[in-house]
Amino acid sequence: MDVISITVAAYIVASLLFILSLAGLSKHESAKAGLNYGIIGITVALAATTSLVVHRASGLQQGWLPIGLMLVAVVVGGLVGLWRARVVEMTGMPELIAALHSFVGLAAVLIGWNGHINGPHLEGGTASDIAQLVNIHEAEVAIGIFIGAVTFTGSIVANLKLSARMKSRPLTLPGKNLINLGALVLFTVFTVLYVLTDAHHDRSADALLGAVTVVALMLGWHLVASIGGGDMPVVVSMLNSYSGWAAAASGFLLGNDLLIVTGALVGSSGAYLSYIMCKAMNRSFISVIAGGFGIEAPASTTTDYGEHRETDAERVAELLSNARSVVITPGYGMAVAQAQHPVADMTAKLRAQGVDVRFGIHPVAGRLPGHMNVLLAEAKVPYDIVLEMDEVNGDFPDTDVVLVIGANDTVNPAAAEDPTSPIAGMPVLEVWNAKDVVVFKRSMSTGYAGVQNPLFFRDNASMLFGDAKDRVEDIVAAL
Ligand code: NDP
Repeated sequence: MDVISITVAAYIVASLLFILSLAGLSKHESAKAGLNYGIIGITVALAATTSLVVHRASGLQQGWLPIGLMLVAVVVGGLVGLWRARVVEMTGMPELIAALHSFVGLAAVLIGWNGHINGPHLEGGTASDIAQLVNIHEAEVAIGIFIGAVTFTGSIVANLKLSARMKSRPLTLPGKNLINLGALVLFTVFTVLYVLTDAHHDRSADALLGAVTVVALMLGWHLVASIGGGDMPVVVSMLNSYSGWAAAASGFLLGNDLLIVTGALVGSSGAYLSYIMCKAMNRSFISVIAGGFGIEAPASTTTDYGEHRETDAERVAELLSNARSVVITPGYGMAVAQAQHPVADMTAKLRAQGVDVRFGIHPVAGRLPGHMNVLLAEAKVPYDIVLEMDEVNGDFPDTDVVLVIGANDTVNPAAAEDPTSPIAGMPVLEVWNAKDVVVFKRSMSTGYAGVQNPLFFRDNASMLFGDAKDRVEDIVAAL
């Protein structure tokens, strides 16, 4: 067998491993196996690609220089990636992922331009076949650059918003939907002209492709800047999806089947995740893009909800010891405080005392899809007591104590009860129906969506101020 056939076989094996990986990652119990399939798959893919590159290098006129340069870039990039992944805080994960998506977008733009400059690789065929293939190649170039550029600037804005270097409030330019639509029309027109133009290596082709790139860069920026508040989770998974399509587009240009399959897997699973997130937020995909969630004046921030009550760790420990059933609803604050380990200790202690402890996980709790599940799994909380919002929402009236640990927007009754609230209509964990609610946070400040939470002022709620990790450790000590 020659190197090419071995590479093709290895690509098929890698693709299958990636599919197994995604299937594994969809369930707690099989997530670790899924991760391992992914690692093996990418190792097979890298080994096969390297052997192909080395094989091609031996036939290159320029010798080993280009390959050597490429390998240096791969090693430097790999080392930087390894270093960033090692030092990143768990709370910095969302923005790191957004930044990584931007690289996929940038790579797709560069591969597109490279495809434009070098032209298609055509062998044999009649003149009309070749003309058709050239047109297809050019459409691939323009589409790849478009998706890549939208992903690139969109992900940069997402990174800035998630790291709070840019306000999470949506940008609302007048006629913003028209701007988005206009950008799509311009892209279509420029692409058609680019494909139809005969002089491919003259200034006009360069200018048309340059225009496609600029329009797409601006559209990506505007699209994500216009989305704010509670819609950001959908944006994160949407950009994940775009980065997949950008990779698939590069796969077509490079004639690399594995990149096409992998890109399509990322693209479609990201699109499905966006759909699940939209459902969880009770929003339609179009309304997220057409945006404006959270633009209305946050009426509830100015409303006087009365006084809140404070409690302390000893009293909470006593409340918990006397409870029959406890539900813990964690949020972003648990991630910030890295409180998952003491939370797991507290859970084990209470369960040993015969208290029924369960977790209620909101689909957009934290700053990443599955953020809370990852933290709880890391702290070895048993999977069978970690329930989704819909599984636990009906049980709150029969629950003695709810511990809201660093969650805010995801337990806000205004979403269910106040139609003027900027987060009205978003399904939430209905913790206020329990007998007692204890809210762990450091102050009375708002959550990600910037909306005050009337839960804190309810008669059955009390605040336990301080860092969530310290407070949970105090409770564990008191237990
Ligand atoms: P929120 O962001 O609404 O609230 C988190 C709360 O944690 C804050 O009110 C903060 O209060 C508290 N907190 C922060 N640090 C600590 C600490 N060290 N100890 C104790 N408390 C702390 O969190 P939720 O998880 O309820 O909601 C998630 C929000 O993020 C939603 O609006 C969602 O739309 C959005 N989002 C989600 C994404 C996802 O994919 N899951 C992606 C992007 C956005 P204080 O400062 O007073 O301590």
